[in-house]
Amino acid sequence: MPEPVAFIDEKFVPASEAKVSILEPTFTKSDVVYDTLSATDRLIFRLDDHLDRFQNSCDAMAIKPPYERDELKGIIAECIDRSGYDDACATMMGTRGPYNDISSRDPRDCQNGLIVVAVPYYYVMPKDKRDSGINISVVDNRRVSADAVDARVKNFNWMDLTRGLLEAYGKGGDSAMLCTSDGKLSEGPGFNVWISKNGRLLTPRGNLLEGMTRRSIFELAAEIGVEAIESDLYPDDLRGADEAFSTTTAGAVTPITQVDSKPLGNGAPGIMTTQLSDRYWSRRKEGWHGTLVDDLLVKEPAGSA
Ligand code: PLP
Repeated sequence: MPEPVAFIDEKFVPASEAKVSILEPTFTKSDVVYDTLSATDRLIFRLDDHLDRFQNSCDAMAIKPPYERDELKGIIAECIDRSGYDDACATMMGTRGPYNDISSRDPRDCQNGLIVVAVPYYYVMPKDKRDSGINISVVDNRRVSADAVDARVKNFNWMDLTRGLLEAYGKGGDSAMLCTSDGKLSEGPGFNVWISKNGRLLTPRGNLLEGMTRRSIFELAAEIGVEAIESDLYPDDLRGADEAFSTTTAGAVTPITQVDSKPLGNGAPGIMTTQLSDRYWSRRKEGWHGTLVDDLLVKEPAGSA
């Protein structure tokens, strides 16, 4: 497998050479926003939607990466192309960057930057559980409150999610379901959650990342004539669901077949879950929301000698 390629400081480099200074608030304060998209068969999925979300995240934190949208598209395509992966995940990061003055701690006084890296397509949920389904633990650790951190701004402030994940592992789960401070279902470390009940699909609303895969499920549900809504949901809604699944760019639809180590429904991936998963991949293979990497490659990309 060739080494991932990154774009940093205006150059394409092997990802192992892409470094962030320990003096930068990008690192010391996790002052960075990001977005992750995927490509299958060199078709980037929902490119413009990801770039819109990335732009919103940058705007929310007043981070201005020094590239126009079309340049960013070219850089993403170039990272995927140079990495040599037909199936890839690419992450773009808008960084606060180094302080202009070493003795300043003013975030307005920084040179904002852009980092992009393409890696082989990966799975947030254990890959071997895609067929059998995962065991999700409803954890005591809460998702950060919307008053403190806007989860719609895609960020690396993962203390709540990582604590939740470690708690879930400690309980024998494959991953975690975090709730809000008032006990409603929120999301997991890197994925949204869906339940199906009496033929309807429901997903939590509130302070959570509005996932691109989640958005795709709304569209796919409409295609197959299934009602899909956002709702206030509670752990018992998950435990009593007919089916449940997680959604994320890195892994798409994963069935949830156990909650707190107890079988959900009959303990097997549900029919609607499987139908949506199959449809997601077949629609992507048809080019649904797809942009070909080759159509974005520019003759002389940024960072070329
Ligand atoms: N929720 C969180 C916290 C995430 O980090 C992610 C993806 O990284 C998701 C949900 C799913 O979002 P998407 O479908 O856009 O990948």
